[in-house]
Amino acid sequence: MHFASPADRSPIPQAEAPRDCPLCPRLVRFREACRAEFPEWWNAPVPAFGDPDAWLAIIGLAPGKHGANRTGRPFTGDYAGDLLYATLLKFGLAKGAYAGDSADGLRLDGAIILNAVKCLPPANKPEPSEIATCRNYLEAGLATLPKVRVVVALGQIAHVASARALGLPPSGTKFGHAAEAVAPDGRILLSSYHCSRYNQNTRKLDAPMFEAIFERALALGD
Ligand code: SF4
Repeated sequence: MHFASPADRSPIPQAEAPRDCPLCPRLVRFREACRAEFPEWWNAPVPAFGDPDAWLAIIGLAPGKHGANRTGRPFTGDYAGDLLYATLLKFGLAKGAYAGDSADGLRLDGAIILNAVKCLPPANKPEPSEIATCRNYLEAGLATLPKVRVVVALGQIAHVASARALGLPPSGTKFGHAAEAVAPDGRILLSSYHCSRYNQNTRKLDAPMFEAIFERALALGD
């Protein structure tokens, strides 16, 4: 089966990894195993999705096995995506209808989604070396988005990766729900608990808490 390259599906193709990016050996092995087991799935670095003129960048952790790793679009087809896309639609940051499928025609308006780690990690847990290696792509992505003024990081790993990518010292940039920090170039890092199934089921994060993050992002972006 032929798949498009990540760059072909990206609004920022110059910042994407190749389909067979070899830089994280453990993730490459896992990718190959998934390709053998699920040949119809995307099973490759997941490209950014959204508006190349975005003022708001949303940074996730990594593809979920049955979500972005399957569909090839961030947060698409998994539990976390249901809340994220419903929230983006509610605040006018997405247009159309979300149907959990990369062919659903959904568009983002003023927002773009990237991941701290582009490839599926076993048990959703990337190693520190993998986060550090893939940060080159995160930095390249943010560098190609000059209109981004606010960066919403979903979860602690995305928070630390985003802080580093923005030139903030992670040790002095505490993670917390609704925590804010100003990067040297004036961009604002706004952190949120991840909209994962676990966090929602344990009530660590509910829809009003998540919506408050985007209300604040809209206020900061004005
Ligand atoms: S996680 Fe990033 S750096 Fe590592 S193999 Fe995938 S695309 Fe390459």
